[in-house]
Amino acid sequence: MSIPLLNILGEMKMQYYKSAENYLDYLCNAISNRHPGSVGNQQATAWAAEILGKFNWQVTSQPFPCIDWRNGDSFLKTPESSFRVKTGPYSLPFAGKGELIQISKLKELEEAQLDGKILLLTGEIAAGQLFPKNFPFYNPDEHKKIYQILDEKKPLVIIAATGKNPEVAGSLYPFPMFEDGDFDIPNVYLKDTEGQKLKKFAEQKIEVVIDSERIPSEGENIIASKGNSRKKIVLTAHIDTKKNTPGALDNASGIVTLLLAAEMLKDYDSDRQIEIALLNGEDYYQASGELQYIADLQGKWDEIDLCINIDAAGNVGHKIAISEYSCSDRIKARINKMVKQKPDLILGDPWYMGDHMIFVQQNVPSLAICSENMLDLCRDITHTPADDVSLVDSKLLVETAEFMVDFVNTM
Ligand SMILES: [Zn+2]
Repeated sequence: MSIPLLNILGEMKMQYYKSAENYLDYLCNAISNRHPGSVGNQQATAWAAEILGKFNWQVTSQPFPCIDWRNGDSFLKTPESSFRVKTGPYSLPFAGKGELIQISKLKELEEAQLDGKILLLTGEIAAGQLFPKNFPFYNPDEHKKIYQILDEKKPLVIIAATGKNPEVAGSLYPFPMFEDGDFDIPNVYLKDTEGQKLKKFAEQKIEVVIDSERIPSEGENIIASKGNSRKKIVLTAHIDTKKNTPGALDNASGIVTLLLAAEMLKDYDSDRQIEIALLNGEDYYQASGELQYIADLQGKWDEIDLCINIDAAGNVGHKIAISEYSCSDRIKARINKMVKQKPDLILGDPWYMGDHMIFVQQNVPSLAICSENMLDLCRDITHTPADDVSLVDSKLLVETAEFMVDFVNTM
């Protein structure tokens, strides 16, 4: 390679790094809070659509209704003290008094009389976050049972005393046992240790105040495509976050990578269609964006030859892990070869959460791209204010975009 060509390539890389940093700064610092229904979420989708349009992609929107959530201070008042507690995400508001009843096992819940009572859930029954009542992709029987009993017995309000549940609730301590805009019993949560102290007020009257509001709103998926054939490759990442996190690794990094790939592919001209799908609901209780995407795709799953999902990739000092699902031997061989050529990429173990699972469930060959330390990130960083841009290495995002583009071009 001659020196001038190397210079040009070097300069192009620098441009991509700069773009990556600007994109990250916009998504995580200029607009904060990208949970569906929020102003920040609407700004993020409009902004991404504009960039994709600029790179000659045909851009469409898939709008859907959702709810924004506003929360103020919530607190408990016992005979001894008054203290703040965390508001259950999407909880209805509440202000009132009732007799406290404490329960730690499903069996006790089945037998209890809860009418007019304030229910404190501790221990075994509060060990994990419940999947939302109407969550379409996965719903364990025990969770359904708990909801069914609570809806029947209707306690006034629920106080959940929780620890950590990294697989489902990220690094939060305490984690919200309920995160469900379809569940209408007001709820708050506090640390398991605080729950232990509350137990002594069982059968006494305590007071609960919850300042919380559900606000009807809208969100959209952004779908960009290029090429005319029916058959397509889908590149996807979720654009939404939990509330109160910059969501840099989860998942501004994925969106930024797709925008870089969109630029690298701006002159793409081949028979096979490429679709960039910015889905809006992976971290939202209803997964509304994902459901809208599925609804719009009905009967057309066979059009998708391959899906590549990127989520929580590009952590400083860690490699990019690629895992495959239902891929042919040809695709697997291709990934192996490419990974050997790129020092920042490795083959990773499969993970069965995330938006690629929507495609995997329909038998679409899929790849998932994340940081090799994904599990540690879930335990310590994601869904919290700590997930900021300082954790993201733009160079890794450029590498990953290049991998996607190479892969797509040689499929
Ligand atoms: Zn994510």
